[in-house]
Amino acid sequence: MDAQALGNEITRVVHTADELAERINQIAKEIDIDYADLDQPLLLVGVLKGAVMVMADLARAVSIPVHMDWMAVSSYGSGTKSSGVVRIIKDLDIDLIGRHVLIVEDILDTGLTLSWLIKNLKSRGPKSIEVMTMLRKPEAVKVEVPTKYLGFDIPNEFVVGFGLDYAEQYRNLDSVAVLSPHVYQG
Ligand code: 5GP
Repeated sequence: MDAQALGNEITRVVHTADELAERINQIAKEIDIDYADLDQPLLLVGVLKGAVMVMADLARAVSIPVHMDWMAVSSYGSGTKSSGVVRIIKDLDIDLIGRHVLIVEDILDTGLTLSWLIKNLKSRGPKSIEVMTMLRKPEAVKVEVPTKYLGFDIPNEFVVGFGLDYAEQYRNLDSVAVLSPHVYQG
């Protein structure tokens, strides 16, 4: 789905499908170089559901062998605010002992969820653990998360598309766009 199909449900496109694809290809080249000498496939860990698009594109853009696994977590909080208290809804199938792990995320907002996730995965004995996030909101960050690969920094606005939803909608928008306030204010 492209942004035109949404009419006034979005106020503006922050990053087009082409920009997202180009940035993912650049990051994939960096990953190919950084992980060129592994004696095992790199393990990409995607965080459901938002990271589905970036995971699918990144995994296909790299030239090195990868394994892919998924986690689903839910963050306890009031309304839309993340609290950092996280519950695992779906855990990984693959054992992390001795693995090189790259967490693939859609968006880094406060950083609370991701910093919890890194701590959790580190305790499982991986050889290395790094983060790739497609988007980051620098103004919203509460906890610094070491991010090895970053797509784009964006303003502190609620965005949808490229995997990101509002009430499960808009994940299949091919760009990243700011949702019109009238959509969530009713
Ligand atoms: P945090 O970094 O605050 O712990 O939470 C990150 C999660 O909040 C993301 O994985 C995403 O699910 C959600 N989130 C944060 N900002 C946005 C946004 O602008 N749009 C959407 N759709 N979800 C967001």
